[in-house]
Amino acid sequence: MANCTEIVKGLKDAFRTGKTVSYEWRRQQLGGVLKLLDENKEEIMKSLKQDLHKPPFEAFFEIDQCRNDLIDTMNNLKEWMKPQKVQKPLVNLMDKALIQKQPYGVVLIIGTWNFPIMLTLMPMFGALAGGNCVLLKTSRISWSTSKLLEHIVPKYLDNDCVKVVNGGTGETTDLLKERYDYIFYTGNTSIGKMVMTAASQYLTPVTLELGGKNPVYVDKNCDLRAVANRILWGKTINAGQTCIAPDYVMCTKDIQEKLIEAMKVTINEFYQDDPSSSDSYGRLGNERHFQRVKQIIDSSKDNIAIGGITNENENYVSPTVLKDVKFTDPAMMEEMFGPVLPIIQVNNEDEAIEFLVNGEKPLAIYIFSNDKKVKDKFRNSTSSGGLVINDTMLHAGVMTLPFGGVGNSGMGAYHGKLTFDTFCHNRACLERELILEGLQSIRYPPYTQKKIQIIQRVTQKKLNHSPFKLPFSVVVIGMIVAAFLLQMFALYIE
Ligand code: NAD
Repeated sequence: MANCTEIVKGLKDAFRTGKTVSYEWRRQQLGGVLKLLDENKEEIMKSLKQDLHKPPFEAFFEIDQCRNDLIDTMNNLKEWMKPQKVQKPLVNLMDKALIQKQPYGVVLIIGTWNFPIMLTLMPMFGALAGGNCVLLKTSRISWSTSKLLEHIVPKYLDNDCVKVVNGGTGETTDLLKERYDYIFYTGNTSIGKMVMTAASQYLTPVTLELGGKNPVYVDKNCDLRAVANRILWGKTINAGQTCIAPDYVMCTKDIQEKLIEAMKVTINEFYQDDPSSSDSYGRLGNERHFQRVKQIIDSSKDNIAIGGITNENENYVSPTVLKDVKFTDPAMMEEMFGPVLPIIQVNNEDEAIEFLVNGEKPLAIYIFSNDKKVKDKFRNSTSSGGLVINDTMLHAGVMTLPFGGVGNSGMGAYHGKLTFDTFCHNRACLERELILEGLQSIRYPPYTQKKIQIIQRVTQKKLNHSPFKLPFSVVVIGMIVAAFLLQMFALYIE
């Protein structure tokens, strides 16, 4: 790898030329990303298969979600770049008050391996749309895909303004010593803290897309066949290595037993008798992650209700359900990030909520219920990056919703226009004319009681007690005028 200081200096020099600011340059880069995706689709799918045994369907989904978000960005870029007009107070009536969407400068994007295309390219094209230069750090764990990106990105994008570094701990540590204008990190929470510490040295703003344990609560009176399908779909996509995968389930003992029976049917329908020979089922990212998940299974032997089969030659872990798990068991100590689903018995939703509010705020909470009161309790008493009722993970596909964590699961959010906004500084711009100076003397010394009275009369706001936006008196007068006009119209017709 070339010297980090030199790479960052090159990007800063490129940014200072001012070429990234124009709409044309940004549009050209986004067009380059689109071409990269379209011309290398087969290669990308092949490398995802090599890294994670990613089924073609899931690889297609990863590329397509990225591509659709890119196209939305291209279609809206001109509009998003426009300075935003804001409401003005009376005294600024003749001024221009605007928010300028300004690029930060040089952005470091640290990606991860579980969705190595989507989680690197989506922030990258958002940063380019914002008019920034980008240093993209891909993960060594998804070796083939990261190597591919290192090779193809320079073919499609402005080489002075976009650099790719593929590597692990050493490379990231070196990169974090440099000064950036923005850092966007995706990965685990402990490295997230290191990133924030490094950023704090220069007060660099950060987005941290982190992980954690995403709980599921299953209420009584649900269609458990549908619940089993929807939980296990989220749990087994990418072999459970998704930041928003359902991590564990809380339900009553009675529901646990019925849910396990329903889950047996689901797993059989999804992967038939042997998931290891299914084309629709992935593998763990590397040996370290395999050993980590295997250790949890080994320490939970008495709790295995479904699965529990592993094969270290191919980092394979079968879809596994653990029953009667306790909050203090090894399976509950850290994010699972694998296809193992612990079920914990609780007496009711209040006990589940009590556990949630005493822990870290998750990236997502999933509730299965038909009861409005139960749904409202979770909505109002818990906090998380996202909340999905009666499904798992699908909120990430609604690009108009913010995607991000809160507290331990991260800070900042992206997707859709929010990605563009993330990489723009909102600069407050006020433009006035050098005229009517006489009127300005009201704010200049010497200060007098009379000046205060005039300023109060012009600027002081009043609390609006009416549910209507318009003052109540205006509404009443409007209604009287309307009634009068109607009366006149009726008389005229007669
Ligand atoms: P990882 O090991 O690839 O680490 C992420 C990044 O940090 C990589 O670029 C890596 O090189 C770097 N890194 C790792 N160790 C480092 C160290 N000691 N010093 C400096 N840099 C280091 O991936 P991971 O963290 O194992 O990824 C899984 C985690 O990411 C899970 O917790 C998951 O929930 C989370 N995640 C979050 C999101 C999200 O959008 N919120 C998406 C995907 C994954």
